Amino acid sequence: MQHQRLSASQRVSTNTTGGPDAVHAGDNQVIHPWEAFGSYGNNRRTIIERGEGVYLYDTDGNALIDGPGGMWCVNVGHGRREIADAAAEQMTRLAYCSPWSLTTGPAAELGQRLTALAPGDLNHVFFTASGSAAIDSALRFVMFYNNVRGRPEKKHIITRRDAYHGSTYLSASVSGKGRDKSWFDFETDTVHFVSSPNPYRRPDGMSVETFCDQRIAELEATIEEVGAERVAAFVAEPILASGGVIVPPPGYHRKCLEICRRHDVLYISDEVVTAFGRLGHMFASADVFDIQPDIITTAKGITSGYIPLGAVFLSDRLVADISGDKSNDAIFTNGFTYSGHPVACAAALANLDIIEREGLLEHVREIGPYFQQRLAELRDLPIVGDVRGMGLVGCVECEIDSTTHDALERDYAIGNRIDAHCQELGLLVRPFVNMCVMSPPLTITREQIDDLVGILRTGIERATNDLRREGIF
Ligand code: PLP
Repeated sequence: MQHQRLSASQRVSTNTTGGPDAVHAGDNQVIHPWEAFGSYGNNRRTIIERGEGVYLYDTDGNALIDGPGGMWCVNVGHGRREIADAAAEQMTRLAYCSPWSLTTGPAAELGQRLTALAPGDLNHVFFTASGSAAIDSALRFVMFYNNVRGRPEKKHIITRRDAYHGSTYLSASVSGKGRDKSWFDFETDTVHFVSSPNPYRRPDGMSVETFCDQRIAELEATIEEVGAERVAAFVAEPILASGGVIVPPPGYHRKCLEICRRHDVLYISDEVVTAFGRLGHMFASADVFDIQPDIITTAKGITSGYIPLGAVFLSDRLVADISGDKSNDAIFTNGFTYSGHPVACAAALANLDIIEREGLLEHVREIGPYFQQRLAELRDLPIVGDVRGMGLVGCVECEIDSTTHDALERDYAIGNRIDAHCQELGLLVRPFVNMCVMSPPLTITREQIDDLVGILRTGIERATNDLRREGIF
């Protein structure tokens, strides 16, 4: 069947909104992430002027609950003077010095503090300026590690469909969201995909346990097919975040880790979203999923998004395997001008102080179930297909049966309408196409959760009415 294309007014670009926008003329020269070039120069984006707690304020003074918490990063909430002061103080004293030959108090102190918090023997940290660069550096470290160990053929990476690991060449290559793959080139020779562990998409009638076993068997079969002597690492987010907050079946990660150990494959846990409190713990791998990875990557919540910073954690074992007499005099020629940036590290220290002093991990453990329960109530809406999540991250996936519209455009139509209505009502959603991901600041209260869910409900209802009126639903 020929799919009907949406009209221009029905179609809204991928990352803009039909909400009450103030438009900044200069913004038309800024290329944004996931820019829709079909409407480049005309895309309207709300200008946000300031933030306080869980709220953002636009230039017209409208208060918006920050549903996604920035990009799941503003963990301690907006407007924290303490972080700003720490950064300003550091910037005034010393804004920068080269991390190649020098170090600074904040970088060293943060390294010590983070490795003490990281699970098990992840006692070594490499700083980056983003999550993508953390993943990139982790993968480059794995290649370096196997070269130093005299195993240059052990380079292949196994990753998962629906994963998102970043936007550098390598981190994008190991990302598995099909809809992001259309217009770019990727490393393909050494990257292999296994299926997404999304229980919602399991075949009708199959138990979650069987589904999980099948996913594990697929991982092992893929390792065997490529050859364990050629597979270097498996990379996995504890919860597939941008893929739609996919929470894998119980025991999935532990079983994956067992398979990896059995075949001498390193396990990289991408905690760019889950670390620093999102699931009620500083790190989720061990505390939530009962696994001890070889490498953990982080970013985002490490500074609550106040300033860019990422960090890769490496185990004692890995470092010992390539150090001293075993080093072959190799140099790890991977680094960034801003590795261990003192201002970012000072901000990260202040951020950790807030998380600890205000008991935010405990708060998430206490309020997380209420957040999930309230979101789950949206299941009764006719266009809601699934609601899932954990801790303070959740996803409301909307879907409609429509044989008359192209699937992608139809899904954008849903997401953009929900987004616009919610913004009018005071909630920022910014769905991933048809998936409304909520990842608010960890400071959110019960009353604010009630507001968030109430607005989301009305927004979805109004969007549903629009879709009916427009004949899309
Ligand atoms: N890994 C995960 C799990 C992410 O969700 C993201 C970003 O959303 C990244 C890596 C990339 O991080 P960044 O955007 O800081 O480069």
